[in-house]
Amino acid sequence: MLQKKLSRRQFIGTVAGATVVATLPIHVQGQDLPQIALDDPSAVALGYVHDTEKVDAGKYPNHAVDQKCSNCQLIQGADGDEWRPCPIFPGKAVAADGWCSAWVKRA
Ligand code: SF4
Repeated sequence: MLQKKLSRRQFIGTVAGATVVATLPIHVQGQDLPQIALDDPSAVALGYVHDTEKVDAGKYPNHAVDQKCSNCQLIQGADGDEWRPCPIFPGKAVAADGWCSAWVKRA
């Protein structure tokens, strides 16, 4: 009886583990994620915009229009993708032409 219970647990654990592995993305792409909303509290806090040309210059005087997510050190995903993951906004995609105050020049 004990052997049967252990086997069932092992089976369930194996199925659950295989399901998790099977559903994990090998490489998350920005288009797989929801686009971050401009009214998302994190986006608001960091002054995120989808278009770097729409940054509030009064609020962010050090911003320059050549600063954008696609040339930020923190951007992830593939070059050329319109929407890409960014660790500053976990689980959301940011626009390649976007910007936020956490921008860091890509080395
Ligand atoms: Fe864009 Fe960089 Fe801000 Fe992420 S940290 S939203 S890539 S500017």
